[in-house]
Amino acid sequence: MLVLGIESSCDETGIALYCTRRGLLAHALHTQMAMHAEYGGVVPELASRDHIRRLVPLTQSCLKDAGADFADIDAVAYTQGPGLGGALLAGASYANALAFALDKPVLPLHHLEGHLLSPLLTDEGVDFPFVALLVSGGHTQFMAVHGVGDYVLLGETVDDAAGEAFDKTAKLLGLPYPGGAKLSELAELGTPDAYRFPRPMLHSGDLNMSFSGLKTAVLTAVEKARAEHGGSLPESVRNDICRAFQDAVADVLAAKAAAALRQTGLRTLVVAGGVGANRQLRQRLCALTIGKEAVQTFFPPPALCTDNGAMMAFAGAMRLRHGVQAAAPAGAFTVRPRWPLAQLSP
Ligand code: ATP
Ligand code: MG
Ligand code: FE
Repeated sequence: MLVLGIESSCDETGIALYCTRRGLLAHALHTQMAMHAEYGGVVPELASRDHIRRLVPLTQSCLKDAGADFADIDAVAYTQGPGLGGALLAGASYANALAFALDKPVLPLHHLEGHLLSPLLTDEGVDFPFVALLVSGGHTQFMAVHGVGDYVLLGETVDDAAGEAFDKTAKLLGLPYPGGAKLSELAELGTPDAYRFPRPMLHSGDLNMSFSGLKTAVLTAVEKARAEHGGSLPESVRNDICRAFQDAVADVLAAKAAAALRQTGLRTLVVAGGVGANRQLRQRLCALTIGKEAVQTFFPPPALCTDNGAMMAFAGAMRLRHGVQAAAPAGAFTVRPRWPLAQLSP
């Protein structure tokens, strides 16, 4: 079976072809980052319009790379939600129209299921059940994953997502949008423990987290440093602050991940979402042990941590493999901008 995957939930148009026998055949991505940069954030209307422009050429380029034709596609998997309404509608309209024209079924999918299953795309050694840490621009959650579609929410951020905290902190440090990845590069240059920021909710006794207070702690440190340095922020101080911020986030995520594994009795951790590309976090999570027991930790390759079509094509193929029936494309369809992952069924 050849599954075409379509992702358009935010500011990336992603298309991919996944073959249930031969694996990932091709994937193509267009990021709108540069277009939104001058506004300092994603402009929903611009995002929708750009998705419309990119969907067809990206599909054509994928088919060419895979040596396939439109007629070879067996099912069309697309992101139904959560995400920006207009952006989702662009992908959903295209997916349903294409499937209708090809007389092939569709699979409307949950974006976070795509992220969550993405480590299995490249790593055959991941077995259910496992604890998933979804750590992205919009979400920071622990899920107990018992199988495809069987997700139980264990805990989540009560305010900002970790990726959002990275981006907002980068902004207040004057780094160009979107600053999360840049902040983490600078953190690598910083001196550990030159600054220390709070670890919110570390001892809350549950698996919830909070990251919004960290920005304020960073802002206070930046203002103090500026006052000490005649109004400017020396690069070395900025890097030290980046390091301390990243240490605080990584500490909380690693401690809560260990608690999630202890609570569930599971010893496999799967990390997905953009912040999963963070090198320091990857090191911390790979070094986790529970008592004397080793933990197996899996990540997608960094390029598949952020939004992409490959994860949606793969999630579609996984659902088909687990007996989910793809549906006939509908003349009327809905998108689900808000959609809790735990509402899915196997
Ligand atoms: P969601 O999937 O929750 O809807 P999203 O799709 O916007 O949100 P992703 O594309 O998974 O999120 O990830 C983007 C986020 O990852 C951004 O907030 C970005 O700052 C963050 N990010 C990317 N690379 C790194 C890195 N190396 N270190 C920390 N954060 C990073
Ligand atoms: Mg994005
Ligand atoms: Fe995402």
